[in-house]
Amino acid sequence: MQKRCSCGDVMPMKLRTVIYSNKVEIDNVPIYSCPSCNRSEVFPEVKPDLTGLIGQLGAQPAKQTFLFNEWNEWAKLLVEAYYEHKHSDPAIVRKMTEERIDMLLDLLAVAQATGDPDWMADIHKRLSQLSRSMLQYG
Ligand SMILES: [Zn+2]
Repeated sequence: MQKRCSCGDVMPMKLRTVIYSNKVEIDNVPIYSCPSCNRSEVFPEVKPDLTGLIGQLGAQPAKQTFLFNEWNEWAKLLVEAYYEHKHSDPAIVRKMTEERIDMLLDLLAVAQATGDPDWMADIHKRLSQLSRSMLQYG
């Protein structure tokens, strides 16, 4: 998981803490960071969820900590790949993503059978987060 920085160096992906308004910590955000020029960039695939989370905090947020992996299914998957499998091989992450999508599609069928709209909406949200992350593979 890496991309080329504008300075020419390679930016590996890291799970980092984003601080908002000096008060709110958002942990485990997937970010590309450049070891040469220190430029960093939030993964475009997770940006909508990060800005959505920050948007909900309002202008005067209380001191608090969020785990971004509880908001974004793909961040959750990356955290699992990092801490459980000890690597971030793009092929492994891709395979895990595909398996998670299959699992969620199965779950969606169960949710539809129960007719629970909140549960279905939650699964839809996770599926859209994962399919957005698949765009990077082209
Ligand atoms: Zn750079």
